[in-house]
Amino acid sequence: MRYSKTLIPTLKETPAEAEVASHRLLLRAGFIRKLTAGIYTYLPMGLAAVRKVEQIVREEMNKAGAQELLMPMVQPTDLWRETGRYEKYGPELLRFHDRHNRESCLGPTHEEVITDLARREIRSYRDLPINLYQIQTKFRDEIRPRFGLMRGREFIMKDAYSFDVDDIAATKSYEIMYEAYKSIFTRCGLEFRAVEADSGSIGGSSSHEFMVLADTGEDTLVICSACDYAANSEKASVAAAAIDESEMLPLEKVETPGKRKVSAVCEFMAIKPSELVKTMVFKTDDETVAVLVRGDREVQEVKLKNLLGVADVDMADDKEVFDATGVPTGYLGPVGITVKLLVDQEVAAMKNFVVGGNEKNFHMINVNIGRDFEAAEVADLRQISPEDPCPICGGKLNLKEGIEIGHVFKLGTGYSKSMNAVYQTKDGKDQHMVMGTYGIGISRIVAAAIEQNHDENGMIFPMPLAPVQVVLLNLGLKDQQITDVAESLYKEMQEKGVEVLIDDRDERPGFKFKDADLLGIPLRITVGKSLTKNGVVELRHRKDGITEELAPENVTARVLEIIQSAING
Ligand code: ATP
Ligand code: MG
Repeated sequence: MRYSKTLIPTLKETPAEAEVASHRLLLRAGFIRKLTAGIYTYLPMGLAAVRKVEQIVREEMNKAGAQELLMPMVQPTDLWRETGRYEKYGPELLRFHDRHNRESCLGPTHEEVITDLARREIRSYRDLPINLYQIQTKFRDEIRPRFGLMRGREFIMKDAYSFDVDDIAATKSYEIMYEAYKSIFTRCGLEFRAVEADSGSIGGSSSHEFMVLADTGEDTLVICSACDYAANSEKASVAAAAIDESEMLPLEKVETPGKRKVSAVCEFMAIKPSELVKTMVFKTDDETVAVLVRGDREVQEVKLKNLLGVADVDMADDKEVFDATGVPTGYLGPVGITVKLLVDQEVAAMKNFVVGGNEKNFHMINVNIGRDFEAAEVADLRQISPEDPCPICGGKLNLKEGIEIGHVFKLGTGYSKSMNAVYQTKDGKDQHMVMGTYGIGISRIVAAAIEQNHDENGMIFPMPLAPVQVVLLNLGLKDQQITDVAESLYKEMQEKGVEVLIDDRDERPGFKFKDADLLGIPLRITVGKSLTKNGVVELRHRKDGITEELAPENVTARVLEIIQSAING
């Protein structure tokens, strides 16, 4: 590749809209450009990095016995009605009508399409197990597309689906994928961790997410310091709290003028937030509910969604709270209101707590569940905290941020039952296929790799994901000797299969160095004054800045050696 003939529109300025490093750097290095919210063009360098991820994924999937196919992006919504996900999936599913007024959607995932294929094409136990995958553009109308490739509306995913005769066989398929994922992310040069995950709207019994640890991650992971337990905090169950056995004291209404926030109420009453109970109102498509959690806790919305069996819950705004309860924000409490009350298990163990008084400028003290109000349901509804014990061993938990790059699910027979996907057993009986589904965020991996590997000068690609392995700077375009050596090195490396970008632009050295760093190419070779003076060229490692001086004839062999050891470990 010649820099002078490749579209790599680097930017000096940091784009204002980019909040995280990967987004900022992908824009600055000319890897991607935004078309519209959450929708990007991959420029040559960006696409090259994406292709690297795809290739690793493809090789490992094939090695694991999966077969590649390609399904349509446009799907008839009739299939989604069969599985009930037409309603359940929510507004992330982009629906539209064609000229015949038939409704379709853009595929956010392909369980319906693959199950339709399986019910038509798989007949007998002899056809199983089978694992089919594709690498394809997905569309999800994300409510908050952000962080560039991290959370797009259009993005590239690898999705695989396994079909088995029974649970035991399906577990085997799941384990094969789990291992394949470990190989894939290791080969990508990522630091990652598999954690227990919530199964979400896709349904199913068990699932793991593969997470890249990074401060900018949107997921919070709970990792036990004593045992193997690691889970997404959406899933992490909180151990039950000890029941407070105190005597119930008489309920009182007290004046709390202008004190609406937990902190203000606590200061005013000289109590700790853990002695207060917040009443939070949420809305689903069908109902409004109030959730009670301790003053120092947060509601975990995924737990709430699962309890309610809905795809979406939204926190009610001030007006919606007032419309549903007649109480102004900051003063809502559970005593005497008609909204359905869902109570966090920790609150259910408390006695004599403080709540809103359901009247402006009032709170209630010595409130007790069972005496002063009834819970419609008691459940684990809060976000786990670092003070909670490990739910498995009681050990100390650490909370870390992570980016989800892959997800494996055991689906069971949910889809095969709703879509009637059966095979014939040995004895000629019809039986539902047992399924698994396995996703990898191909384009998100590029972003995650950059989050994990960058410095103030730019990206630092791990060798296996780098769009090219070497950037070769010709710093003497007008010097025949320098140009001859640069060009012959370029040719020689290409012949040996090295991926090289030659910077043959008529630009100052400082400019070329800056761009080379920004692009994050693992190896930089500089042909310049040291050649004419000392007969050497410089080889610099982007990651640690270590520089080697080499005679031109030794460069290609050294580069090959470095690449080999970086790719084969
Ligand atoms: P998230 O919780 O981040 O929305 P998800 O659970 O919806 O992810 P899956 O349905 O499991 O994701 O999709 C498989 C993989 O696709 C994810 O592990 C992630 O790497 C990637 N992915 C999902 N949504 C996006 C998106 N909006 N942009 C880029 N990649 C995505
Ligand atoms: Mg999602």
